[in-house]
Amino acid sequence: MTAQILDGKQLAETLRAEVKRGVLAFVAEHGRAPGLDVVLVGEDPASQVYTRNKEKQAKEVGIRGTLHTLPAETTEAELVALLARLNADDAVDGILVQLPLPKQIREQTVLDLIRPEKDVDGFHPVNAGLLASGRPSLVPCTPRGCMKLLERAGTKLAGARAVVIGRSNIVGKPALQLLLAESATVTIAHSRTKDLPALCREADVLVAAVGRPEMVRGDWVKDGAVVIDVGINRVEVPGTGKTRLVGDVAYDEVAERAAAITPVPGGVGPMTIACLLENTLVAARARVAAR
Ligand code: NAD
Repeated sequence: MTAQILDGKQLAETLRAEVKRGVLAFVAEHGRAPGLDVVLVGEDPASQVYTRNKEKQAKEVGIRGTLHTLPAETTEAELVALLARLNADDAVDGILVQLPLPKQIREQTVLDLIRPEKDVDGFHPVNAGLLASGRPSLVPCTPRGCMKLLERAGTKLAGARAVVIGRSNIVGKPALQLLLAESATVTIAHSRTKDLPALCREADVLVAAVGRPEMVRGDWVKDGAVVIDVGINRVEVPGTGKTRLVGDVAYDEVAERAAAITPVPGGVGPMTIACLLENTLVAARARVAAR
């Protein structure tokens, strides 16, 4: 079997076009654009690229994107003061604090201060609780992107066996909730799981969110499974002095067995920012509706 490639770049483009239409309608109705404020503390190079992309893509779909860049030595109190200002600003619909934060700032303390209705990353405990209760909420962007890719693949989730590798609050746990909401039978695997290959072989849908290059091998995957690779790992290309990105899945081996698979790069990654833009529009609509 040769797997169908689930093209996240293309699907993200379609989603961005949809969001752009929604933004135009929002502006026509409310006389202002939805607003997304992204906060970056410090000079982590990967975070700089991610936040610049978020701001740029927001602007491309007509969202008012603002990037707040704070120095690495910013205190927690200073960040808290900025968040209080953004929370109170009616033109701000979405607030995103880029992770990781410098050591002097407590991540959870800060994230918990973002008003849940502006929490476009979906990390606030209120949003996590709503998601776990099967109620409308702002859903974390990466697992939301995974679900859209599964939908695009036409994957039948009701009754399917799904295995999610990774139990982070950002990917693994919300992915579990979203799959469960679609009536899949879901197992979460993690670093202490015994005989992971055997567990994975039971999966009709396999989501890998680990951060270990090419950990999932061809013989871990059942024939005809749908494989979503969330991992982004930079590895050296031997003898060239260069690096490349690979996922958590050994793509070539797994593509021979799977019915569908996401590539890295170009799979889940592009969907994450597109879903952030969608979340900003969702948050803006919900905030005006709540008035
Ligand atoms: P994390 O480090 O918070 O969590 C990793 C999880 O993997 C943990 O729950 C851990 O228990 C599990 N794990 C570690 N070693 C394992 C092993 N040997 N066997 C089974 N499970 C193991 O990471 P995260 O934030 O969830 O991110 C996971 C990966 O996804 C990373 O590569 C990250 O870069 C990538 N990521 C991609 C996007 C995207 O937009 N595509 C977004 C977020 C994260």
